[in-house]
Amino acid sequence: MSDYQELKDLALSCGFSHVGDLDADTIQVRPEVRESCAENKCQSYNKNWVCPPACGTLEECSQKIHQYKKGLILQTTGQLEDSMDFEGMMELAENHGKHMDRFSDEIRKRFPHALILGDGQCKRCKVCTYPDAPCRFPDKKSSAMEAMGMVVSQVCADNHIPYYYGPGTLTYVGCVLIE
Ligand code: SF4
Repeated sequence: MSDYQELKDLALSCGFSHVGDLDADTIQVRPEVRESCAENKCQSYNKNWVCPPACGTLEECSQKIHQYKKGLILQTTGQLEDSMDFEGMMELAENHGKHMDRFSDEIRKRFPHALILGDGQCKRCKVCTYPDAPCRFPDKKSSAMEAMGMVVSQVCADNHIPYYYGPGTLTYVGCVLIE
């Protein structure tokens, strides 16, 4: 068994605000999440190798997730000026992406087969090669938790880590399944 306290410290050093244990057995994939992907509100559906439909069926995603037993939940929390602070939201999302990239690079050195899940489409390349050519960085690409069918707030609740940190805060969430 790996030293999870050391991995949590590593995650915090990459910039995350909060890190918690993730028990893969608690994770459920839900058809309604996949249906909401298909509505394309996030403009990522069918545009990226890590989003539906390219990321696989819900059953394939569930199989991928449940090859693992344990991992970490990774959160970046920030304070917004008000509910219309879109600049603050974008800045926070960008910071969370940077934390995910930093942590992914480190964790993959130790656990090359770790499954890393962020939020939104993969942003490793300015323009994704999908669907015309294979992924440029198959070892570095990462799906969103939602793309795999997860309800992020539920995953946090089932693993006893808050999702809401008080008025005016916003939290972006990712996770890694390690072993
Ligand atoms: S690494 Fe590049 S090509 Fe591969 S999924 Fe991410 S953005 Fe697309």
